[in-house]
Amino acid sequence: MRIKVIAGNWKMNNDPNETRDLISKLLAGLKNLNSTCEVVICPPYTSLSEASSMIKDSKIRLGAQNIHEEENGAFTGEVSAKMLLNTGCEYVIIGHSERRTIYKESDALINKKIKRALKNNLKPIFCVGELLEEREKNITEQVIKSQVLKGLQDFSLNDLKDLIIAYEPVWAIGTGKTATPQQAEEVHLFIRTLLADNLSSEFAENLSILYGGSVKPDNSKELLSQKNIDGALVGGACLNADSFISIIKSA
Ligand code: PEP
Repeated sequence: MRIKVIAGNWKMNNDPNETRDLISKLLAGLKNLNSTCEVVICPPYTSLSEASSMIKDSKIRLGAQNIHEEENGAFTGEVSAKMLLNTGCEYVIIGHSERRTIYKESDALINKKIKRALKNNLKPIFCVGELLEEREKNITEQVIKSQVLKGLQDFSLNDLKDLIIAYEPVWAIGTGKTATPQQAEEVHLFIRTLLADNLSSEFAENLSILYGGSVKPDNSKELLSQKNIDGALVGGACLNADSFISIIKSA
């Protein structure tokens, strides 16, 4: 059985006061919701502690947006997996396209980060996705295959039981352009088949694959009703409590 996950990536938004305000609204709006889907919020590092104490008796889970690949040491400005775990995080986003493009994170680095997260019992939300020019050149599957296999290189099946993949076409992130449900479903099925062929069909069948890229209340239901779409990674729309709650309700 796959779990349905709706995760909100707050990016570099919301200081601790704004965090309190947004979480209060989410807690109120989700109080009586009888949903089986896992709701995850990923605030910036400086709001994790505040968020953690506010959601501790609720169904909302906490995630971070990045980790460092080493356990600890002389890495000024970085945050370790253990620090995240001890601040209440259960999840961590790894390989987001903004990390890949702005901060030049390579597949090899992303692979190390996934390893570090899993070693510390954090569940990685491993992001993959093609650029617009790659889609236009008809090499989407090639790009996704390379990102998935390099990111998951040298893992045993047992190591990967807590993995979640997010398919986020880069051209759909923060642009208002969403992949059609058919375009998204095609890539999700491609990822599942790739993992069935390269790892195991049971693993692939049970893996949650989220879609991300301009998910909004008016398109979430159709996207989330596709057979191989098991949830959403939401950017812009998760910053507004009402929008995020409607996306959760549509799951
Ligand atoms: C994201 O940042 O992961 C994302 C999907 O953003 P948006 O929903 O704003 O496109």
